Amino acid sequence: LKPSNARSISKVRVIIRVRPFLPHEISARNGNPITCISVLDQDFESPEEITVYLKDPETSRKECYQLDSFFGQEDNNVGQIFYREVRPLIPGIFNGCNATVFAYGATGSGKTYTMQGTEEQPGLMPLAMSMILSHCQSTGSTAQISYYEVYMDRCYDLLEVKAKEISILDDKDGQIHLRGLSQVSINTMSEFMEIFSTGVQRRKVAHTGLNDVSSRSHGVLVISVSTPSTDGTGAVVCGKLNLIDLAGNEDNRRTCNEGIRLQESAKINQSLFALSNVIYALNNNKPRVPYRESKLTRILQDSLGGTSRAVMVACLNPGEYQESVHTVSLAARSRHI
Ligand code: ADP
Ligand code: MG
Repeated sequence: LKPSNARSISKVRVIIRVRPFLPHEISARNGNPITCISVLDQDFESPEEITVYLKDPETSRKECYQLDSFFGQEDNNVGQIFYREVRPLIPGIFNGCNATVFAYGATGSGKTYTMQGTEEQPGLMPLAMSMILSHCQSTGSTAQISYYEVYMDRCYDLLEVKAKEISILDDKDGQIHLRGLSQVSINTMSEFMEIFSTGVQRRKVAHTGLNDVSSRSHGVLVISVSTPSTDGTGAVVCGKLNLIDLAGNEDNRRTCNEGIRLQESAKINQSLFALSNVIYALNNNKPRVPYRESKLTRILQDSLGGTSRAVMVACLNPGEYQESVHTVSLAARSRHI
């Protein structure tokens, strides 16, 4: 059996998730909506990758991209993504390694659904928390969470009563610290659900006067684990998993943003582009990784590269061709070897 990290040549796995059509999208198309996304997953030339096709329903123009894995709308089960892509990251957290999972895509493509999920269909965040808690029981480790958002390059603590701005500090050894960021111990899933959902609520109402900031900011849940080392020295090994619901990427050629919207959109695109540059540099063994190009990549510096592992889930709406091209081309570009 191959170790799971040998499954792919890329160090940051880049995978696709297509959400199903929603009831209103189906009825708008008289029950027969057309998907613009298809996949060839049996490529015998390169079995480690899949080829995704995007087809413009108007012009029949086709584009194809190579990625690491594909989860289509037929098997709409986040449990599969968790099992195959996120679960393999968890043992490392208990050995002092960090990991990061991103949901990336346009607004409405299913990022929040994938990361948070619903009560009936928990997403990657609660699924990861639950597995980490059960590992904690068997290893004597403890878990803590932090939850913050990055909006217009500023960082806000979502576990504080009033979403408070926090400052980012680099210390001498290059470690990043978020000064004063709350960390809350978690022992059970019900504790987690209570604390996390308060943070989610806070994220929705944090910026008065602006609608829907939650999809225009990056939401970061950090699950930190402290494990007593097995060498009897009483030392503690620390690792963390970052689960990130990225801001929706926008194609400014298509949207007619003005004022604050345009500034927000510029910041979002800049930080997503910086993230893509970092992933590209890591996947292609570039000597210099441009972490300093955005707040988000600076914060994630200790969780991307080195011994860290990461997965980017590119989320797609099957009815949106242009938007999907925009998302998949950036995702494929980050992965490209
Ligand atoms: P985003 O966070 O990318 O803006 P959402 O996660 O809010 O998008 O999803 C947009 C809409 O699609 C929501 O109504 C959500 O409930 C629905 N949706 C997204 N993904 C799925 C899925 N896999 N199965 C069913 N409904 C989904
Ligand atoms: Mg969202």
